[in-house]
Amino acid sequence: MRIFAALALCLALAACSGEKTASPSTDNTADSAPETAAVDGGAEAIDQNDDPASGDDLDKIAEDFVKLALAAGVHDAAFVDAYNGPEEWAEAAKTEARSLEDLEQDAQALLIRASRANADTGSVRSSMLEKQTRAALARIQMVRGDTFPFDEETRLLYDVVAPQYDVSEFHNAISEINDLLPGDAPLHERVDAFRSSLAIPEDKLQAVFEAAIAECRRRTLEHYDLPEDETFRLEFVTDQPWSGYNWYQGGHESLIQVNTDFPIMIDRAVDLGCHEGYPGHHTWNVFIERDLLGEKGWIEYSIYPLFSPMSVTAEGSANYGIELTFPGAEKIAFERDVLFPLAGLDPADAGKLEALNEASSKLSHARNHIARAYLDEKVDREEAIRMTMEFGLQSRERAEQGVRFVETYRGYVLNYNIGRDIVADYVARKADGGMDRWEAFETLLTTPLSASDIQSAK
Ligand SMILES: [Zn+2]
Repeated sequence: MRIFAALALCLALAACSGEKTASPSTDNTADSAPETAAVDGGAEAIDQNDDPASGDDLDKIAEDFVKLALAAGVHDAAFVDAYNGPEEWAEAAKTEARSLEDLEQDAQALLIRASRANADTGSVRSSMLEKQTRAALARIQMVRGDTFPFDEETRLLYDVVAPQYDVSEFHNAISEINDLLPGDAPLHERVDAFRSSLAIPEDKLQAVFEAAIAECRRRTLEHYDLPEDETFRLEFVTDQPWSGYNWYQGGHESLIQVNTDFPIMIDRAVDLGCHEGYPGHHTWNVFIERDLLGEKGWIEYSIYPLFSPMSVTAEGSANYGIELTFPGAEKIAFERDVLFPLAGLDPADAGKLEALNEASSKLSHARNHIARAYLDEKVDREEAIRMTMEFGLQSRERAEQGVRFVETYRGYVLNYNIGRDIVADYVARKADGGMDRWEAFETLLTTPLSASDIQSAK
């Protein structure tokens, strides 16, 4: 597909293979750090989802934001994860190739306009546009060479700050896993050996993944009316820093890629099927294209800047989508009864796998802890790898892949676990108020809110 017609969403990494989530990550909660500007629209407007702003000004700011992001993408290959807006804008960005110095000035000027517009309107749209612009400015400054402390970086880019962690809690989870898989070898080797015994044989990958995604889709369609032409393609690839990726193509179509650099464990099929597909990234992209870009005509949603507040909802909803779709013991039951036989694996190990994943989920936030220590230069690369082996229960090879992910995507790692927690808490609050969980989840997917907005939404 055309480069700029591709919308991609990130995915899961091997660093988190110990978790039960689709990505490499784990899960937890975090404090959010609201921005200075007014963002009251989020909490209030989430239920009405309308836009009281005067359209023209916001439309122009939105257009300039898209063009700014496209221009930044010329300097930073990871900046634009997906774009399906006017082709001529993308071409102009490449042709003009504006300097980073100019782009930083443009971003600062645009942030002033976006802040004023948000102060005037206080709408969901203006609030997010302001935060998106602030994140773009910060990322441009980083590409220019500025460095921010880890917490400041995640606050600026994702509107989230990870809590400080009590490492003894990670050690408690490790003790639990140690009891589950007794032996003399180092624990990460025992975990690796057990999980490797549940790898999907290469010649069964296609069949297992097709079955898993089909079930994720079937369950999702019981609750949502997706466009009739929505579809996806599945590909197996190698030599990537992630374990799975959704490259949204526009037109309600996704390209879902699964990385086979390492053996893929049986429980990852449903994880990735939900995370990358239904009701995760593919579904989210379809909703955005249909509702925000199509129905509302909000052009800023023709682009997905990866290092932006949208990523909290993207990764958080994709990971929470697994437990929404397979609540309680339904996931392990489906895997045991359908996927294990399909892969030729012994279903007798399903119970132990579930227990391992349950205990490993308590280590999900260790990733944030390690990334912060490493990026803030409190530990060196070798120590970051060692910590990833210890808290991620991974082989050195997988741990190195996890550290490469951190080096590439930096604070993005917290979107998987903190994002999941924020989305789960939101849906739980709505459910307590009597709303159906799938309905609450759809509201979240179709309402552009940053992390602090979601946390303050009633
Ligand atoms: Zn993802």
